[in-house]
Amino acid sequence: KAKEAGKNNCQFYAKGMSATAVNYLLLENDLRRAVEQEQLILHYQPQIDLKTGELMGVEALVRWQHPERGLVSPAHFIPLAEETGLIAPIGEWVLRQACYQQKRWLDSGKKVGRMAVNLSPRQFRQRNFPEKVESILRETGLPAEYLELEITESCAMEHAGETINQLKQLNQMGLYLAIDDFGTGYSSLAYLKRFPIQKLKIDSSFIHDIQSDPNDAAIAKSIIGLAHNMQLSVVAEGVEKPAQSDWLCDEGCDQGQGFLFSKPLTARQFEARFVGKHFAFDGNVVKLNALA
Ligand code: C2E
Ligand code: MG
Ligand code: MG
Ligand code: MG
Repeated sequence: KAKEAGKNNCQFYAKGMSATAVNYLLLENDLRRAVEQEQLILHYQPQIDLKTGELMGVEALVRWQHPERGLVSPAHFIPLAEETGLIAPIGEWVLRQACYQQKRWLDSGKKVGRMAVNLSPRQFRQRNFPEKVESILRETGLPAEYLELEITESCAMEHAGETINQLKQLNQMGLYLAIDDFGTGYSSLAYLKRFPIQKLKIDSSFIHDIQSDPNDAAIAKSIIGLAHNMQLSVVAEGVEKPAQSDWLCDEGCDQGQGFLFSKPLTARQFEARFVGKHFAFDGNVVKLNALA
């Protein structure tokens, strides 16, 4: 097929394809080797209790250290991985790596709360996905309660029937389950109430202008209320300013995640900065203090 030929012959492709398409193909080729050549890396971003400043969890976010292109964002290569099926080995690598890291932190007495890992739709829909998670937990020795899995709202709502079955199995294993980017998909509340989940993550697009846009404020308040009425915890994504954090705290939002607290960091940076510390909110300043 043309796709096969294109791999070894870019000129053949350049005639009929746009530069972006060629670029995409080159990237696909490189991505195939990314896992085996150990070019992927996880960064970690803290999730903070907005009342106490305590570190409640950490989200693992993958990056690709491309030999020529530098650090490639997951927004660029995860969709490609999803399309080509490469998400299976990449997703598995991410999960295993995050579990090993969390187990190391646990074993050394460094409490970081739960480790949250993002799942892409194709990965989540694999029939044997729960078994895969089970075997990675066994391999790494990580107890299930320290692992949280995030699926986006749009992924969850597409084939909602299947989603329920899959979530049930994962829930029975003792994992913590979160709906990511909440508010951006086509949510069905009839389905939402049937999902055995523990957490909603308010999408950052509602947080950005939360102080100036009354609609965003209304939506955020409603999601916080919805979550709490369903006995779920709620996290705001993309918290960048102390005023946003204050507002969210006043509205009863449980946790915040965003550049205000930290950008995603390497494991080493994360450890040095956060382990054994908690945040203190002092007027407009967010400080890091050593735990008493
Ligand atoms: P997400 O899961 O919603 O992750 C939040 C994204 O927002 C991250 O981008 C994070 O770096 C960024 N972010 C955090 N705080 C702030 C802030 O205060 N302001 C702004 N402007 N951005 C903030 P990142 O790391 O580029 O990841 C983008 C998306 O790629 C993620 O969105 C997630 O959907 C996907 N992704 C990342 N890692 C993985 C993975 O291992 N597997 C899968 N399937 N998807 C992943
Ligand atoms: Mg996420
Ligand atoms: Mg999100
Ligand atoms: Mg997002």
